[in-house]
Amino acid sequence: MPGFGIRRRRDFRALIRRVREWTMIAKGVAHTSHPVLAHIIPTRRCNLACEYCNEYDSFSPPVPTQTLLNRIDHLAALGTSIISFSGGEPLLHPDLDVLIRRIRSHGRIAGMITNGFALNVERIQRLNAAGLDHMQISIDNVMPDKVSMKSLKTLDPRLVMLSDHALFHVNINSVVGGGIRNPADALTVSNRAVELGFSSTVGIIHDHEGQLQPLSDEEQGIYIQLKNKGKKNYARLNFFQDNVARGVENHWKCRAGARYLYVCEDGLVHYCSQQRGFPAIPLEKYTVEDIRREFLTVKGCAPKCTIACVHYTSYMDFWRAPQTISAPPQTSEANQLVQIGGVRK
Ligand code: SF4
Ligand code: SF4
Repeated sequence: MPGFGIRRRRDFRALIRRVREWTMIAKGVAHTSHPVLAHIIPTRRCNLACEYCNEYDSFSPPVPTQTLLNRIDHLAALGTSIISFSGGEPLLHPDLDVLIRRIRSHGRIAGMITNGFALNVERIQRLNAAGLDHMQISIDNVMPDKVSMKSLKTLDPRLVMLSDHALFHVNINSVVGGGIRNPADALTVSNRAVELGFSSTVGIIHDHEGQLQPLSDEEQGIYIQLKNKGKKNYARLNFFQDNVARGVENHWKCRAGARYLYVCEDGLVHYCSQQRGFPAIPLEKYTVEDIRREFLTVKGCAPKCTIACVHYTSYMDFWRAPQTISAPPQTSEANQLVQIGGVRK
């Protein structure tokens, strides 16, 4: 149980953060030619090796700090509202605090997605001091297995530390699909998250192109149970996932490359983690013209897409501008190019 002082400071920060977020949403609705969210990769290396993951390696060094600071400055100059670290495992970057401070110095919202294994009290306090706004931890199962080590059993002590010391918002994402052995684990994870005072979401694991793989009957049953818990347990669900869970396509306008940017470790802008290779333009050369073009570009992979963060950032423009520009085909060839180290220039 966190002390009274921590709870007061956390509540105060949450209040300020909400004001900043509402300002950001108002700006996002008013103007379309800036990104709402960018994910940047401070290192491709990860300390785990989840069986379903295609976003990590075991050897890449951290991207040099000055290079990342320059990327953050460029994203801020483009008007990006939220800059969030992904990976690989972002906590393996030794200067993550310096990077978070730079995001906050531009007045932007700073977030990160982590497996949480490198957390300890001292690291949490450093993240507090740097001004981190949001942290998301994905937990795949209750007991570790060969598919994933991101288990509640392993992570629970770190979750307690976060509950006691973190001043930033923490969201725990549980998952169904993708070979996770016991779908009911998602319920246990969600309940524990709420018990510790965190928000809780559920994700559906996608294939290696970010595309939907229909859930089994048992997985659909768990998904419906999580959905029915609704506000009672604060388990938030992404409404597009109702269709994803049933194997039904969604009809929406993916604004990747415009409202959402994925900046890889080489500094190239891609549509998302699962469609690397397009448009693959160096961030320092990415301009408002690129944003305007991609805003209007059809993404052929949209109907079966499960990438929640891009759905969220695209929905604020659902009523705007039909997409009229044809995109290059998104095929497995594009991903293979990335995975063997090739890039489309
Ligand atoms: S912890 Fe995350 S980045 Fe690392 S292997 Fe697992 S899913 Fe991939
Ligand atoms: S629809 Fe958009 S977010 Fe989804 S896989 Fe395609 S490019 Fe990525």
